[in-house]
Formats: sequence, structure tokens, C-alpha cells
Amino acid sequence: MKLLEGVRVLHFHPGSVSEPTDVAIDGAKIVEVGPGLAAKYPAATRHSPGGYVSPGLVCSHNHFYSVLARGLMVGIEPSKDFAQQLRNMWWLLDRALDEGIVRASGLAGAADAAMLGVTSVVDHHASPEFIDGSLDVLAEGFAEVGLRGLLCYEATDRNGEADGLAGVRENERFARKVDAERAAGGSPLVDGAIGAHAPFTVGEKTLGALASACKSTGRGLHIHVAEDKFDAVDSRYRFGEDICVRLDGAGLLGPKTILGHGLYLTRSEIELVNERDSFIAHNARSNMNNCVGYNDNIGLYRNAVLGTDGIGSDMLEEAGFAFFKHKDSGGSRWMDSYLEMLQNGNRLLERYFPGKRLGRVEAGYEADLTFWDYDPPVPLEGANVAGHVAFGMGSRMVASTMVAGEFIVKDRKPLFDAEAIAARGRSETRRLWKRMEERK
Ligand SMILES: [Zn+2]
Repeated sequence: MKLLEGVRVLHFHPGSVSEPTDVAIDGAKIVEVGPGLAAKYPAATRHSPGGYVSPGLVCSHNHFYSVLARGLMVGIEPSKDFAQQLRNMWWLLDRALDEGIVRASGLAGAADAAMLGVTSVVDHHASPEFIDGSLDVLAEGFAEVGLRGLLCYEATDRNGEADGLAGVRENERFARKVDAERAAGGSPLVDGAIGAHAPFTVGEKTLGALASACKSTGRGLHIHVAEDKFDAVDSRYRFGEDICVRLDGAGLLGPKTILGHGLYLTRSEIELVNERDSFIAHNARSNMNNCVGYNDNIGLYRNAVLGTDGIGSDMLEEAGFAFFKHKDSGGSRWMDSYLEMLQNGNRLLERYFPGKRLGRVEAGYEADLTFWDYDPPVPLEGANVAGHVAFGMGSRMVASTMVAGEFIVKDRKPLFDAEAIAARGRSETRRLWKRMEERK
């Protein structure tokens, strides 16, 4: 058992801050929160972290495969639009990924997330020249660091239908492997969704295979939709239907479905997504970076969550960008709307981790916690949490990170070999650059 003594419990949404109190953790779970617990749990290991403890942060849409893409020393053809950007940059990158580069990317992505107080990452993976077994290799990074996650492979027909179907099989294989671990009494930290790239690169046969995979594994689809207008236009032109109508027709919209972006979904599609209780992942920074437009309709969704789309895992920064982009567009939503989206990531995870409760520092919840070394010059109270996050608090104040009752970062020191992970990343990046040049 562990006992956290004299910490203030901070909830970002709905905003609340407690007086200093104790948190008792048994195994992976919080068993009690209240003052003076030391007498009740005398055998517990005692920690006095000071500061604040909040539920762990969740990144609900990420691509660890692009962790090594920063500072790319490869000549990339200039692009006139988003589809060209995919071809010239991202599809050149993902084809160059092999087992070693995927392993290094998973490790570096997980290490970065942990240092930023992120306890769970929902990843969307692509490596077309290394499909079979790629999710196991990616999962090694999560296991090494101790991060919780939800993985999938982005099935796509852009390199042929055989590859599309191989992608679907990888998703199914990984989900079944997790099921076997659970059946054997394990409690894996990583689960699998059924991934696909985007409707404009998924033909009818692969779409049908995705639907069967969702049904047979009990998982949901994780796919980009209408990130750019091209995807929405292509769906109506080639398939005669709005994207979400097409997905729903195949039985692919449900309570475990995660749709990335959705900038060009129509009002009726948004209603359909809400009826099916599906999730939409908002990635404001990535949308700005790709100049695809702004999802001003994000406030209309029942289940909106926040992702970085591969731009690191700093979730307070991401929430801030989402808020400031909204303000810049003339919007009137306050920062707490974005903290609600951040919090919603826990509801998404609960749908994949049966029986587990995530996202509160309360008895019965998983001990996925972020510890904050924050000593604000302004009183921090429940009613002004959002203002603190928008204008003062940041992930640089993360002191420790705990997943399922285990510290993975403690007092700003990683409990994994961060130096070796970074060194491996640098050497694999040189190979990545070479392999990209060879594939141009
Ligand atoms: Zn994405």
C-alpha cells in the first residue's frame, strides 16, 4: 500500500481543489481519500509530495510513429494542399519505418508523455512496410515506461487492398492478444482499438473487414474523418454518401468509435455521431499546422476529447492552443470547455477497460495520478482552475506521474532509462532519414 499525505486534490473538470488530505492506494486502485489516514494504514509506504495531485492526463489521439519526425533532415517536396502533404511527407515517413524505428518511436513517445504528467495515450499507428506485429513493438514502449494506452493500426488501401486487409488483421490480432491476457487473469495496461487511416483511403472491402473486426473483438473503430475537405468531398463523389453515413451503414459508429478531427462533417453527421454516442478527437494545433481549417463545431458534440495528433503529448499546452484558437476565431467558449474535453478522455478509456474507473481522485478509481509542483501567486480554487490552466499552470510543473498505483516519474526523475531511450531515438532517426531518402 501507498499513502500520499498532505496533498491537495485538484480536479480540472469540474474544477475543484481540496484542503490538504491523504490518499490511500492499494495495488492499482485508490481505496480512500481523507485526512489522518496514517493511523488506519500503518503498514503503507508514506509519501509527502506536497503541492497538488490530479487525475492523470489523457491524450486521446496521438501518433507515436511521428515522434522522430521533428527536425527532419530530409528534403521534402513542397505541397499545395493537404493530400499532397500526406504524400510528400507523412506517407514517405511511415513507409520508412521498420521494426527498430517503431520500437524507438514508441519508447520515446511514452517517455515524453510520462514526463508531461500524461498517464494514458490513445495511439493511431502506421508503418506500411512493417505491419504484422507492429503493435506489439509499439506496446513495448508503453510497457517499458509503464504508460496506459489504447493502440491500433491505421488500416489503409493506399498501398493496395492486400495491405489494407493486413492492417485490419494486425488490429484483430492485437485485440485478441489483450483478451487472452485478461482471460488469464492479467490486467494489461494497454488495450487495442480497430484502426483505419481515413475514409478516402479505405475501400468497401477493407471497410467491411473493419466492421467484422470491430464486431468480433468488441472494439471500436479509430479513424481520421474529414480532417480536410477533400475527405468529405471524396466520400460523396465516390461512395455517394456523407462520411458518417457511410461508416454508420457499415455498422462502424458506436460508443467505442473514435473519430479524429471531423472539420468538415455536416450538422446531420454530427447528430448521427451523437446518437451513436461516438467520440470526436479535437487536435487544434495539428489543424493549424496543416492549415486545414478550424473545427468550430466541436462544441456541438456529446463526446469531444483532446488529442495532439503527433505533436508531442503536452495536454495542458494542447488545451491552451484549443482555447486560444477558439478565442482567435471570435468564439465565446471559456477554457473550462477544453478542460472538460481533456477530462472526457477518461470516459473513452473506461469503455475499453471494463470494470475500471478513471479520471477522479476518489475511492474506487484507478490510481492514475499526476503530481503538480505548483505554488501559485494567486489563490487556486475550484472556481478559477480553468483560468490558472489558461494563463499560469503548465506541464513544466509536473513533479511525478503514477499509473495504476506505480510511480513512473518521481520528483521529476524518470523511473525508466530516459537517457538510453533518447540515445536510441537519435541513432534510429539517422536510419529513418536514410530510409526516407531511399524511398523518394
Ligand atoms: Zn491523427
